[in-house]
Amino acid sequence: MQVHRLPVLSDNYIFLLHDPGQTIAAVVDPAEAGPVLRKLEELGATLVAIFNTHHHADHVGGNAKLLQRFPDMVVYGGAKDRGRIPGQQVFLQEGDRVSFGDRSAEVFFVPGHTRAHIAYYFAPAHPNEMGDLFCGDTLFAGGCGRLFEGTPTQMVNSLSKLRRLPDQTRVWCAHEYTLKNLQFALMIDRDNANLHRRFAEVRAARSRSEATIPSMLGVEKRTNPFLRWDDLGLRAATKAENDIQTFARLRGMKDRF
Ligand code: ZN
Ligand code: FE
Repeated sequence: MQVHRLPVLSDNYIFLLHDPGQTIAAVVDPAEAGPVLRKLEELGATLVAIFNTHHHADHVGGNAKLLQRFPDMVVYGGAKDRGRIPGQQVFLQEGDRVSFGDRSAEVFFVPGHTRAHIAYYFAPAHPNEMGDLFCGDTLFAGGCGRLFEGTPTQMVNSLSKLRRLPDQTRVWCAHEYTLKNLQFALMIDRDNANLHRRFAEVRAARSRSEATIPSMLGVEKRTNPFLRWDDLGLRAATKAENDIQTFARLRGMKDRF
């Protein structure tokens, strides 16, 4: 399975999964149809599935047009998004599996950004390879999604599920927010040497207009404050009394950053 990253809108990424052997493709969160159709043409592949993570327009905007062009494909989304995702046919819950070509992904229910958000995790095809996590707007490189329809407790619970995955997992999140996220992270986590190193790398990459996605989950665990709610330094920096409060205060500070 190859993953192609398509930059769209101001800072979104669409991910196109390609199985060259079977000349099939699937797409994660098609914000727009045009770039997907052009890539499919270039690859000579047929679209067999849309994997949506949540209902926001910058994730489902291309659904209707793609479904029109490929009426036999399947549109997947979270069970609680029923009625909010155009063309949705399959209503997924925690622990469900979806398949694409010879691969399959586990579904995680990760409410917080929205009340219905899900993530898709493809475990490595062979030992020593990397897994692939498509997490929409739940976990970002260096950050996490805003809490539009969920509570800090829910989001910590959701991010806990993702944090349990192996370090060698590619994190395919839906927005290029990394530089700004790390600027915030540095402000509250000044003594984190890994974070300083990462910031320098990301700043250099962005100055060359390179994408910072995918990131590695192991790097996120060490440098993303929104995966480190149980870090005592962050607890002190936010003057919080427990993990949830640490996370909630970080999120509140980031909202105003
Ligand atoms: Zn969103
Ligand atoms: Fe989004």
